[in-house]
Amino acid sequence: MFLVHERKMADLSALKAIVGPKGWSEDSDTLSPLLVEPRGLYKGATPLVLRPETTEQVAAIVAECRESGIPLVPQGGNTGLCGGATPNAGGDQVLLSLGRMSKIRAIDPLDYTITVEAGCILQQIQQAAADVDRLFPLSLGAEGSCQIGGNLSTNAGGINTLRFGNARDLVLGLEVVLPNGQIWNGLRLLRKDNTGYDLKHLFIGAEGSLGIITAATLKLFPRPREEVTALAAVRDVPGVIELLSRMRAATGDQVSAFELMERFGIDLAIKHVSGVRDPLSDVYEHYALMRVSAGRENSGLREIVEESLAAAMEEGLVLDAAIAESEQQAKDFWRIREGIVEGQIPEGGSIKHDISVPVTRVAEFIAKADEAVAKAIPGCRPCAFGHAGDGNIHYNVTQPVDMDKQKYLAKWKDLNAVVHGIVRSLGGSISAEHGIGQLKRDELAAVKSPVEMDLMRQIKNILDPDHLMNPGKVV
Ligand SMILES: Cc1cc2nc3c(=O)[nH]c(=O)nc-3n(C[C@H](O)[C@H](O)[C@H](O)COP(=O)(O)OP(=O)(O)OC[C@H]3O[C@@H](n4cnc5c(N)ncnc54)[C@H](O)[C@@H]3O)c2cc1C
Repeated sequence: MFLVHERKMADLSALKAIVGPKGWSEDSDTLSPLLVEPRGLYKGATPLVLRPETTEQVAAIVAECRESGIPLVPQGGNTGLCGGATPNAGGDQVLLSLGRMSKIRAIDPLDYTITVEAGCILQQIQQAAADVDRLFPLSLGAEGSCQIGGNLSTNAGGINTLRFGNARDLVLGLEVVLPNGQIWNGLRLLRKDNTGYDLKHLFIGAEGSLGIITAATLKLFPRPREEVTALAAVRDVPGVIELLSRMRAATGDQVSAFELMERFGIDLAIKHVSGVRDPLSDVYEHYALMRVSAGRENSGLREIVEESLAAAMEEGLVLDAAIAESEQQAKDFWRIREGIVEGQIPEGGSIKHDISVPVTRVAEFIAKADEAVAKAIPGCRPCAFGHAGDGNIHYNVTQPVDMDKQKYLAKWKDLNAVVHGIVRSLGGSISAEHGIGQLKRDELAAVKSPVEMDLMRQIKNILDPDHLMNPGKVV
């Protein structure tokens, strides 16, 4: 036992030597915030966090870990919601934090590309693009703290997926440290490249289970010159999807975000989040919040949105609507959407689902899920909201008013099974944008075919035969 301990200490010293004195910590105050998942669902332990500054240091760390059999857990901004960046509770996994690798290596507005290191905060990349009059469209609630390495490893979605795709769609090339310590430099600038398997897609969405993303070349876009934010109260959920389809057609597919909000969620935001008010003069059950953007000012887009909403009102599809008159009013509309997330917290336990179904089946999903969860836990309060334009609904179920929180949360898996059963029957996905991590790992095998699971395991075994890359996550 003593020898094992001595060996371990020597291995950790070797890792510390790679990054130098500023590149590691074993101080419990530094470590503790890194060991908890944002919702508090997972709490891990580690003897050491490593903070490399270069790709070469990452490669040396990975090689040393392979040599000594030490499992590594990569971590970006630690905003992931599936426990993917949390080490296990056993304390035998080393945390690899990418935050010091935050250089923008190159930006080329003419080529519409930017090359960044994995530890760049998403907002930093958005700002760097804006500084050269370009847009990096990935945008999500955690953009002030999540890192691009984490975004790519989870194939993040967010509010602009409808128009620009997921994180995966924004990548031209990657630099990855493979589980054997080799560096794969795939930082290409090519828009077309059909030279065999497109390996970058293996690492995007792999949640650190196949290697460490150290840098990426990303696509930029023209910066919009005119943005119109509109909020519409809609007859019902099928009407929300009908409205989406019409707005896409009327604007020539300029709708960049299209979010569903329902009464219960808005009530929670008004009740618990300061500054949130009911957006329209009357109270309605279902709302669509949309952002439409154009490449030039005075493009006529606002008039198109106005006319489309007016026509929908005449038909009874839209019950009332408002178009933001100022940037502040647009912000206030978006504040309601963000407030739905915050507003759920003081209401007690909330059992979460990040699901997607084909866009045309969103209404059917919500109707069936509402009925099923009410039967499973009488009095529970479903809060459906989110990226309706992508068929991605955050279906969170708040506890009954008088139920004990812990008793309610103990039903997490049972309620997931109810909701995910409906999702599967509609041809949907149990993880639309947050990933698998630890949270859904055991469920993965139930939703993928044996052929698909086998293929995933084979890929894992070939690239990471010792299972040292984020073990216990994904597969
Ligand atoms: C308020 C809030 C709003 C959110 N909204 C959205 C949303 O709209 N859409 C959405 O998709 N997500 C959303 N999320 C979830 C989260 O922000 C995303 O999953 C994000 O992409 C995670 O990035 P991160 O840097 O925090 O990664 P982390 O949480 O640190 O890590 C996530 C996973 O990636 C791995 N990883 C991290 N960096 C690397 C790397 N360099 N190489 C290899 N593996 C790595 C980790 O091991 C882990 O498995 C939200 C979260 C919060 C708290």
